[in-house]
Formats: sequence, C-alpha cells, structure tokens
Amino acid sequence: MNSSKKSPWSSTPPTAERIVSAIERIGNVLRTGAWQFATAEGLNPAQVDILAILLSRSEGVRLSWLAQQMGVTTASASDSVAALVTKNLVEKAKAADDGRAIALRLTLDGKALATKISEGMSFAFDAVEALTKSQQDAMYAGLLAVIGQLQKSERFPEIRTCVTCRYFAPHTSKDKEGLHHCRLVNAPLPSAMLRLDCPEHEAAEPHVDSFNWKALQRT
Ligand code: SF4
Repeated sequence: MNSSKKSPWSSTPPTAERIVSAIERIGNVLRTGAWQFATAEGLNPAQVDILAILLSRSEGVRLSWLAQQMGVTTASASDSVAALVTKNLVEKAKAADDGRAIALRLTLDGKALATKISEGMSFAFDAVEALTKSQQDAMYAGLLAVIGQLQKSERFPEIRTCVTCRYFAPHTSKDKEGLHHCRLVNAPLPSAMLRLDCPEHEAAEPHVDSFNWKALQRT
C-alpha cells in the first residue's frame, strides 16, 4: 500500500461538525413540516411553536418563560400570543401560584389543534421508531448530553428533565451502571427512561444540576 497516497477521507469534516450538521438538517425538516402545517391552519410557525409548548403545560405559563423557551423577545412572543388569543386558541388566566400574575393556557380548541399538530409530525416519530432500541437509547443519551453541554453555556432554555430535578439521584445501583432513582416516586430510573419534560419536576440547586450532568456522562 502506498502510504504517501492521500486518504480519500482527508476532506471529511470532523465528527462533531457532521453531528451538528445532521441535527441542523433534521431541525430544518421538522421546521418545514411545521411550516406546511402552519400554512394549512392559517398560523405562522411561531404560533405553532406556542401551541406545541403549551400542550404539555396545562397549569399555564408566564409570557417571559414562553419567550425564553422560543428564543425570542417578550414583545415578539406577546404578538404571537395575542394572535392566538384572537383565534380563541390560547387564553389568559390568573396564575395558580400568584393571583396577580397572568398565565397563558390552551383553550379546548387550542388543545385539539396542538394535539393535531403533534400527530402531524408523526413522520419524525416513525423515522426514530424504525431504529433499534439500542440505537434509540444511544441517540437519546447523546442528545441529552449535548443539551447538558448547551445548558452549561446557558444556550439551552430551562427544561423539566430528570437531570435538573431535585428528586433525581444518579447511579444509585452498585451493580448496574446507568441505573438511577427518582426519589419522588421512590423507584429505579434507568438512563433510557430519563424524562425530558416531567410535570412533577422541581428544580435542583445549580451545583446539583452540574453534578448530575457530570454523573450522567459515566452512563
Ligand atoms: S420527579 Fe420527574 S423529573 Fe424528577 S426525577 Fe422523578 S421522573 Fe425525573
């Protein structure tokens, strides 16, 4: 073999670059799906995002939190919310934890539409479900680790994941690596079952978050 011959792969970008590119392309496909849906329903993509976010937050959310999740200004989120209120898809009510604050919630029509949107993205679920269980577990673990890194640099909005929850106890089993525990329900919690958006989540102290993210890298 002629070792001086140039490798046919020398121009291949590094793995990290190809992973980011793959995530970006998948994101584009999902956004296009949302665009098509938005157009058909007379909504814009930001409005579709709001419906999707509110679907798992039946208790209601503050406008500032919503803006943070969407990565837009409060004024921009406020415009989108106002349009959804006019369409009777979102309602403003008193926040359960503070009677003077306003919480945004889906109306019944909004909930029905948000559910339809979620079903409309089933092509993405089908694509992931076609993978083997071990591929899905590895992909989920990898994506969760990337989210953890992004959160370290404050580039990922707050999420209700087990890793940042005060009830989460990592690696509680001496015999089985990657077996954690949820202290709320007092049950073992395997890595593959870690939640991304748990309604019972209660934020842990920041130093506990960072300990948990590090601990998870051992999984
Ligand atoms: S309460 Fe929810 S987020 Fe917290 S550890 Fe248990 S399952 Fe995870």
